[in-house]
Amino acid sequence: MTPTNKPTTLPKLPKDGLRVVPLGGLGEIGRNMTVLEHRGKLLVIDCGVLFPEEHQPGVDVILPDFTWIRDRLDKIAAIVLTHGHEDHIGGVPYLLKERPDIPVYGSKLTLAFVQAKVQEHRLKPDLIEVKAGERITLGDFECEFVAVNHSIPDGLAIAVRTTAGLLLHTGDFKMDQFPLDNRITDLRSFARLGEEGVDLFLVDSTNAEVPGFTTSERELTSAIETVFRTSPKRIIVSSFASHVHRIQQVLDAAHASGRKVAFVGRSMVRNMGIARDLGYLLVPDGLIVDIKALEKLPANRITLVCTGSQGEPMAALARMANRDHMIRVDDGDTVLLASSLIPGNENAIYRLINGLARLGANVVHSGNAKVHVSGHASAGELVYCYNIVEPANVMPVHGEWRHLHANGALAERTGVPHDRVVLAEDGAVVDLVNGRAKIVGQVPAKHIYVDGQTVGGVTEESLQDRRTLAQEGAITVVVIADLRTGRLAENPDFIIHGFVHDAAEFNAVVPAIETALANLVGTGKRISPSQAEEAIKRTVSRWVNKKYRRGPMIIPVVIEE
Ligand SMILES: [Zn+2]
Repeated sequence: MTPTNKPTTLPKLPKDGLRVVPLGGLGEIGRNMTVLEHRGKLLVIDCGVLFPEEHQPGVDVILPDFTWIRDRLDKIAAIVLTHGHEDHIGGVPYLLKERPDIPVYGSKLTLAFVQAKVQEHRLKPDLIEVKAGERITLGDFECEFVAVNHSIPDGLAIAVRTTAGLLLHTGDFKMDQFPLDNRITDLRSFARLGEEGVDLFLVDSTNAEVPGFTTSERELTSAIETVFRTSPKRIIVSSFASHVHRIQQVLDAAHASGRKVAFVGRSMVRNMGIARDLGYLLVPDGLIVDIKALEKLPANRITLVCTGSQGEPMAALARMANRDHMIRVDDGDTVLLASSLIPGNENAIYRLINGLARLGANVVHSGNAKVHVSGHASAGELVYCYNIVEPANVMPVHGEWRHLHANGALAERTGVPHDRVVLAEDGAVVDLVNGRAKIVGQVPAKHIYVDGQTVGGVTEESLQDRRTLAQEGAITVVVIADLRTGRLAENPDFIIHGFVHDAAEFNAVVPAIETALANLVGTGKRISPSQAEEAIKRTVSRWVNKKYRRGPMIIPVVIEE
């Protein structure tokens, strides 16, 4: 079945069937969320956010669409989390606001990051820690947690047993054989689950197009050390505020080269504090200093660690590049971007690199040095997994269409039949019944925009308005008229914002406005102000389109005489 975005009526789920509905993360990178339904109960796996792109101005984050579960929130047995990245936990507070007592399960570090987040939203959910290897029963779902290696410590894959069969969800993972914390992906458990019979395997697709195996984190150590050995002045490192292992490498290199380190930015300071307190980040005594103390040291003893490696305009690094931050990047400083380039952020990142280079900084990034590796399994690792698990049905998750497609093709190469590979997108309803997984319908999966304190108030239409304002400008037309006769009391005022033509030229459209209002009165009734505004908007738009070939936003204001 070709997926469509239109919600459909769903068939009844048989008693021994399992319904799997991805509400985010399929067809996009971010806002990962999968809902399982079995015997009237729901289990939520992850609830993340998606970060907006340039064509979504003013949006803070994008949430999964909770419409499908909103009237059954009381049926949610639990939220189980695979790991602590924003695109897996960022939506949790928003779901908890709809029902605050949903229990949340996750590993120690994941829950510590969730705790910091829910505190900001003044929520006090029940957070229950689970460990790799543990099995728990949540209603009719029996969950087993399996250690996986990823670009954040403490990641878990989740196996779910129901009477419909065994589902295995990898979460985000890779198969680094020499990770810094020596916690490898537990393939022995994957094999054991495979022996038991995995009926539906949900697999991370992010790097399915990348051939071979993802390089080990350890192989970056020498390139990072080289940066620290050879940089003459300050080193400013930018990474994700959750990449504990990469920051560990930076701390070790800084320590070895006799530098001191300060963390910059709220999320970086907070997360590294959490990681240190819980023992995930090992910090040599005296290495971390306050930013004020750091400034007194000579430049070649200074390391700053901040966020903003994706060019996010409000993050510390972009503000430094724009000279809008207390830290001034100087000639000869080195900036190390220790993170990947997330699709969609290319323009922002290159703008950032150019901005820093203009200030005289030497920018080291994964394009010119081996300072970053991905956190996701490449094609070689995925094939390995398919061969170990030998799943009956496969559903690629986490990725744009090209990634999902490539992942599905890998599954087929290992012998999974074509009709057992489910290529689904957000909102697709996949039923596992009698050992077969099939798409049976579609539920709403719109982008839900968060803008400051409002959730869902910004719609596709308001974003279109914002784009129009940005690209075309706006013209406010103030009309004072008698709404019984349609006659103008005086010449309308045209107020122009970001549109290049002179307001006086707009006098030419006044006769057309008069005609439009006169036509409305034709029926003999009094015109309502909104009718008048609609007519003025249409008339002026048409005239501007014809005369200037532009489409600015027309804002009519009608004042009754
Ligand atoms: Zn992740």
